[in-house]
Amino acid sequence: MNKTPDIAPKLQCPTCKTTVYWRSDYPYRPFCSERCRLIDLGEWASEGHKIPGKPADWFDPDAEQQ
Ligand SMILES: [Zn+2]
Repeated sequence: MNKTPDIAPKLQCPTCKTTVYWRSDYPYRPFCSERCRLIDLGEWASEGHKIPGKPADWFDPDAEQQ
């Protein structure tokens, strides 16, 4: 087994599954970007507060006529 100190640990962004390396190139690790970090934090914060049903902007004209 050769020692390979230059190879950073590899992981996946929890939000979008993009490959992320544990090094300074990725300041938001384990997330690939600040956006993914915020998305994950948002989902965690809203856990148990999910709104059931369809999105408010969903509109089905066929259902409207029945
Ligand atoms: Zn991501």
